[in-house]
Formats: sequence, structure tokens, C-alpha cells
Amino acid sequence: MNVTNDPNLTSWIDSANETGCDFPIQNLPFGLFTVAGDDRPRIGVAIGDMVMDCGALGRRGLLDDHCEPAARDALAGTSLNEFLALGRMHWRAVRERMSALLRSDMPVLKDDMDAREACFFPLCEVELHLPMEVGDYTDFYASLSHATNIGSMFRPDNPLMPNWKHLPVGYHGRASSIVVSGTPIVRPAGQTIAADGADPTDGNVRLLDYELEVAFVMGPGNEMGDRIDIESSRDHLFGVMLMNDWSARDIQKWEYQPLGPFNAKNFATTVSPWIVTLDALEPFMVDGPPRTDDDPANLDYLVSEKDFGVDIDLTVSIASEGMRDAGVEPTLISRGNYADMYWTMSQMLAHHTSTGCPMRPGDMYASGTVSGTTEDSRGCLLERTWRGQNPITLGDGTERKFLADGDEVIIRGWCQAEGAARIGFGDCRGVVVPARERVQA
Ligand code: MN
Repeated sequence: MNVTNDPNLTSWIDSANETGCDFPIQNLPFGLFTVAGDDRPRIGVAIGDMVMDCGALGRRGLLDDHCEPAARDALAGTSLNEFLALGRMHWRAVRERMSALLRSDMPVLKDDMDAREACFFPLCEVELHLPMEVGDYTDFYASLSHATNIGSMFRPDNPLMPNWKHLPVGYHGRASSIVVSGTPIVRPAGQTIAADGADPTDGNVRLLDYELEVAFVMGPGNEMGDRIDIESSRDHLFGVMLMNDWSARDIQKWEYQPLGPFNAKNFATTVSPWIVTLDALEPFMVDGPPRTDDDPANLDYLVSEKDFGVDIDLTVSIASEGMRDAGVEPTLISRGNYADMYWTMSQMLAHHTSTGCPMRPGDMYASGTVSGTTEDSRGCLLERTWRGQNPITLGDGTERKFLADGDEVIIRGWCQAEGAARIGFGDCRGVVVPARERVQA
């Protein structure tokens, strides 16, 4: 195990040592923040209830002799893209240095009050932003339970398409509408058709849904024409975020044939503000992917002895506006685990680039809805309420088939394992706000 993952490490920042804290010294996730009175975004690392300003660390010489000047300069930037492009050796050197600076027994930063003043801000006082500029975004469909559930609703005789166990199915999504946790989600409008087969209409979406997903952030990437070999995926994958793939089911039902999702998915995608690195996730990596004797063998480019899943516990909760006003706890809607997915992040990447499609630093791709085999592990309302047939009841007594205006969807994720410190992802949340009077831009 890498020294940065040692469960016995503690930080001189006391809040990082508290039980249940998402950001202990073993985590060190990267994000982007601004402070009051200064619009320039800064790269930060979350530790306890504080954020550490990476650019400020570098300016004080605290990264010198441990990290290359290229890494120090990239961390002084206004987005993570340049740092993502540097690659795994730099990421690891920076992680090791930051871990050392924050350790209880290391006086360098702990005893330098000037530097502490300049480099640390309370998380509750900063504004968090999307950590990187996302050039391209792809969404997969990697959960067997999700694909089978959705398939059986629409094609009861033939739920799983013949390609599904041979390749990770995906579609190219929309990068321009990826937003950070906390951004309000305006109820979209679009073309839908009523169930009775009447003429299509243009109007506000009625069947608004969330999808519980995990997103992956690209590092260096590949030249056009080259492939990323499944064995070298770790060199290209920087980290993981939680994601809500907001979905308009009534648009989707009408538009999806024959080319798949389009407007049903392009109006908003929310991600959690922190990228948890693969280095931090190492203690939680498990064998992957699960296969049975009935499953077909996969082609060589999708198979690696070293392939891995990650044991990430995930929950979705909903709080209506009334519940928030009354101080009622959000209602837990489902609970899943990313390790249940049929296709791994490395398989998705190997497949995505099998044609030579170039991936660039900051590109993002996502797992698809994380659903397990049980009813309470279904990762979207379409499945959870079975197309609205079995509504769920919220803490205020109201029922939901799909999302109502004012509803807040809260996705949480964390990892825990024997012999490792628990780490968390930070919330991925968004409130649905009423549809706008539509303006022609
Ligand atoms: Mn999705």
C-alpha cells in the first residue's frame, strides 16, 4: 500500500481526523474554488472542513524539491486541465507531498502561521466550481440490472440487446451543460407525445428523473488513431466524481429511436465538486468485472488480469421544498454500489478508444445508472417506481412517480474497507426549479 493511504495517518487539521469526515488525510481530492472578493479560480485540495490552495503552496516554495516545476505551475492555474495532462507520476508526487505537509508529525506547514493563513480557507466560506473544462463527455450503460430493468419495461420479450455483453454500450453526451453540485436545475421543455398516441406537443417536461452515476476524469489521453490499451488505463484515469444524469423520460421515450438519447439528456448533468483520485481509491479496488459461466467471453482488448472494480457505496435521497423548509431529513430513495457494474472504467476507456478516438485531458465519461439486483438499489425513479406504477413516499407524506419542482436530489458516496480509512466524495446535489418562460436566444 502507498504511504498516503496508511489508515494510521492523522493530520494536524483536527477536523480531518473526525469519524465520518469525507476528507481525511488519506483522501486529498482536487477541486476548484473562489474566495470572496477574488474571481480568479484556484485549484484546491479538500482536507477536513478546509480547502488548501495549491497555487499558494507552490508560490511559497512548499512544493519545491518534491514536485517538478511543471506540476507546481499547473497547480497555479485556473482549472485542473494542465495538471491532468501531466500524468500519473506528477499526480503521485504531488499527492505524496501534500500528504506529508498535512501530517500531524510534520512541522513545515503546521508551524508556519503565515503560510497557513495564506493557504487554507474554510470550506463553508468558498464557492466551488467545476474542477476542469470538459471538452467531451460520454455516458455509458454499464449496469446489467439497469439495462435489464429498462429493457424489460420497453421490450418484455427481449430486454437485453444482443450486443450488450460484448461491448460497453454508450452515447456521446453534451459537455456544455455539465454543472457543479448546487447549481439549480431548470425544468426543461421539449417535444413529447402523449401515451394515447396523439400528435406531439412542445411543452414542459412532466417525467423528470435523476440517474445515479459515477463519472471518470481523463488525464493525458491518446493521439487520434491510437488506442488506450486496457492495461495502461491507470496512466490515463485521474479520478472519480459522483454524477446525476438528469433525464427527461417523456422526451426520451419519443426521440430515442433509432439513434439513442439526445435532448432527453442534454439540458443538465450535475457532478460533485471534488475529484477523488484513483490513488486515493486504491485500498477499495476489488476484482472486476463479475462474470458467470453463461456470459460470453470478451474480446482481448476488453480483458485484463489486472482489471478492477471499486467498492463505492452510493445513496440517493430526495428532499421536497416543504421538507427543507420544515427541517425534515431527506428521504433515502436508493442505495447502490459501483462494484456491481458489469463493465469497468478500464473496459469503457479501452472500448471508447478502440477506433482511435482521441481522449483529451479533462474529458469525462460516466458509468451509466448504477443499479443493483434489489428494488432498493435501483438508481433512477423510472426503475424505482417502475415507470410510475409504484410511487415512493417522501418524508412529508407526498408521493413521487417522477421529480416535482422544488425537489432536491442528493447523491452521496463513500468507500470503506478493512484496514483502510473511510473516504467520501462530498455531495452531488441539485434542486429542480420551475420551468422558465422560454426565451429565444
Ligand atoms: Mn445516464
